[in-house]
Amino acid sequence: MSLRCCWYEPVEEPGTRMLLPGCMERVLDADADCTCPTTAEEIDRLKAEYADLASKAAGTSHAFSDLMSAVSAHRDAKAIFADADARTAAHADQVRDLS
Ligand SMILES: [Zn+2]
Repeated sequence: MSLRCCWYEPVEEPGTRMLLPGCMERVLDADADCTCPTTAEEIDRLKAEYADLASKAAGTSHAFSDLMSAVSAHRDAKAIFADADARTAAHADQVRDLS
């Protein structure tokens, strides 16, 4: 299966044409070669995007864990966590007020 674009005549608008999914080359020249990604190319692009996002999520998780370790080891950890809890509660109130 391919994502290559094709011209269609919509049933609701006879005599007109729609290019689906559509690439700029064929929009500009109906006889031009399609440059839409193939299904395999699209899958490869999505896999790469997923891997990038998963890597960023893992990095964020590690950074949060490191921050929690640093705060926990701080002599004022109890006050810092109490302040964070108060800020979280205030934020939750703001979100609830908006809904
Ligand atoms: Zn195309």
